This record gives sequence, structure tokens and C-alpha cells, in this order.
Amino acid sequence: MGGYGSGRFSYSGRRPTTSQRFALDARFLHRHGMLREGGRFSMAVEYANGPVADIDAFYTRGGVRMAPAYHSRDKRPYLRLDDLLVEWTDCNYGGSRPWFICPRTGCGRRAALLYWASGFACRHCLGLAYDSQNEQPLDRLSRRVAKYRAKLVVRDGVPNQKPAGMHERTYFRLLGAIDNAAEEAALYFHAL
Ligand SMILES: [Zn+2]
Repeated sequence: MGGYGSGRFSYSGRRPTTSQRFALDARFLHRHGMLREGGRFSMAVEYANGPVADIDAFYTRGGVRMAPAYHSRDKRPYLRLDDLLVEWTDCNYGGSRPWFICPRTGCGRRAALLYWASGFACRHCLGLAYDSQNEQPLDRLSRRVAKYRAKLVVRDGVPNQKPAGMHERTYFRLLGAIDNAAEEAALYFHAL
């Protein structure tokens, strides 16, 4: 008889998961130096069942400003996204971490990730469930980079230094792995 976990269990009733959406990841952007004055990036988003818009974004005065997307033919702007406020909280071991403020009216939650739904919003606003088995590619890459970086040390404020006692070969392999992850991320997310 069909029961829990039989494969017939309320599949159609499931909420969409976070992995089915393009996400902006504040931690990823921060790690790649895009959340400081003058930081820039671009992204391709699908809008209203149709055109894919290339959005240029830049960081200034504590927020991510979104440039309007233009029609290539007549240069009319056709998509103008809300700017995103960024808040910073202190970490236990020094430094600070960024949070987006969800731009949906009446929300204003802090969120590390904002999801695309013809505009950005937090997972609460979009009613999205977490799907840890199948994360966003960027989220997965962020985790991988964080894991590699955790094996290295910060010395004199410079990250990714070789810990005492680690073989040179291991050290350069880790640096290479971090570079590879960053390159892979660039396929999804292009730093200008
Ligand atoms: Zn929200």
C-alpha cells in the first residue's frame, strides 16, 4: 500500500523549492569583493515569461543599485528593478557579514539570499521551501570555497595564507581549487 515515502506521497502538493529559482547570494558577492564601494556585477534574469534581461548592478552607499535594462532595438528602458539595501552584522571571529533587506513591501526581513520572481524577494515572501539536496549552483560553490578557505589562515589581515606545517603542494592545490570554483561561478554570474 502506498504510504510515507512510497513515491506517491503528495507530490503535487509540494511547495516549490529554493533550488528552482535564481538567487542573489550576499555572502558570495561579499567573498568576491563585489559588496564594497565601486563593486560591480551583472546577471541575466528572465522576466514575465519572456525576455531575458541583462541587469548591471553596482554597490554604493550601503546598497546594490540596479541599472535599468534597455530594449536593444529602440533603447527604451523596459525593466527597472528595486535597489537592494545591504546591512552588515559583526561575526564572532572578526569581520562582518552582509545581509540583503527583502525589498517586498511590508517584509524588510534580513536575508542572505534573495530569489528571483520578476523582482527579488526573500524565501518567506515567495513561500519557498529549502531544498538542501539540490541547492542553487552559486550557493553550492560558495560552500565549496568556504570549505577550502577554512583550511587556510588569515595572517596580518591577508586571507588564504599557508598554515604552518602545510605542504606547499597542498597549499597550491587548495588555491587552485578556490580559483576553479570562482571560475565555475563566473559561468552563472559575471563580474564586470
Ligand atoms: Zn520578504
